[in-house]
Amino acid sequence: MSFGFRVTHTDGAARTGVLTTAHGDVETPAFMPVGTQGAVKGVTHRDLESLGATIILGNTYHLYLRPGDELIARRGGLHRFIGWTRPILTDSGGYQVFSLADRRTIDDDGAHFRSHLDGSAHTLTPERSADIQARLGSDIAMVLDECLALPATHDAARASMERTLAWAARARARFEAIRAGEAADVTVTNAGQAQFGIVQGGVFGDLREESAERTVGLGFEAYAIGGLSVGESTDEMDEMVARTTARLPADRPRYLMGVGTPRDLVEAVARGVDMFDCVLPTRNARNGQLFTSEGRLNISNRRYAEDDGPPDPACDCYTCRTCSRAYLRHLYMAHEINAATLNTLHNLHFYLDTMRRIREAIVFGRLESFRAGYVGRRQ
Ligand SMILES: [Zn+2]
Repeated sequence: MSFGFRVTHTDGAARTGVLTTAHGDVETPAFMPVGTQGAVKGVTHRDLESLGATIILGNTYHLYLRPGDELIARRGGLHRFIGWTRPILTDSGGYQVFSLADRRTIDDDGAHFRSHLDGSAHTLTPERSADIQARLGSDIAMVLDECLALPATHDAARASMERTLAWAARARARFEAIRAGEAADVTVTNAGQAQFGIVQGGVFGDLREESAERTVGLGFEAYAIGGLSVGESTDEMDEMVARTTARLPADRPRYLMGVGTPRDLVEAVARGVDMFDCVLPTRNARNGQLFTSEGRLNISNRRYAEDDGPPDPACDCYTCRTCSRAYLRHLYMAHEINAATLNTLHNLHFYLDTMRRIREAIVFGRLESFRAGYVGRRQ
């Protein structure tokens, strides 16, 4: 089964759809929990399935360094290795090189860096990132792009966009060579893999529009919006999203990378975005912060020490059905592993349930009233 997408309902610029992959369908708009090293921190795949997660994200940088993409290919690919049968998207590895690796330098060839694990030297090029992701066998592979450091001038943003476009053309050529069986050193573990291009351009609308048009010209299965939620205002982010989606093909899914808060999800869907990933629900859960229908709740707060109520009275997740705020605070203060698990179950349920409600609102043509309900909730 090859990659496909069809829009099922629209409401303004928002739409619901179905993404088809070799490992099953994904209803969009969709949120992808982040499974950095082949696991979503704190929860099992069984938990993810019961929460209704239909697609997860894996990080190429981490899996390449440990245990290694060739070892994973020998296990039959990432799906078989980790025992997750539903769709997987992998990033290019670039973002972690920029944010985690030691002594990194970037030139037109790619990114040169030392592993944060053992200091070993590596080079990540657009071709190499495509090779690694082909071995991992994700359903969706991303092209290597340059992560622009903010604040950036228009000239710097343009130069970075040009480099990203040049890398995207190389990544596509390599992907097509792999698909055609011309890459003898690459063991392909998922013949149905799709490759997404990435729109960059910083906070400059003209560059975003040009990047979108030229990336579409390279002919990817679908397109992502990168380099947002990196310190710009929410107004700037919303505007960049709107100007980009307006120039992306309506019949392909649009993926807003690394975003965001529940507010960000609702606003981006209203501007035509279909897919999201973000570490917020899982990372904040481990730090004791819960997303609730009443706003964010920091479970370590002393005021919850004898609070017998559920974390979120409006939530029907396992954690909210079985745990009081007092118990969750105790587990968190005692550094119990279960604190991370129970908080993550709730936060992922909150995010995935928000997406379900967004999809339902679009189907019934009432996304505007759903969106109005989010204003002022500081989510
Ligand atoms: Zn809950």
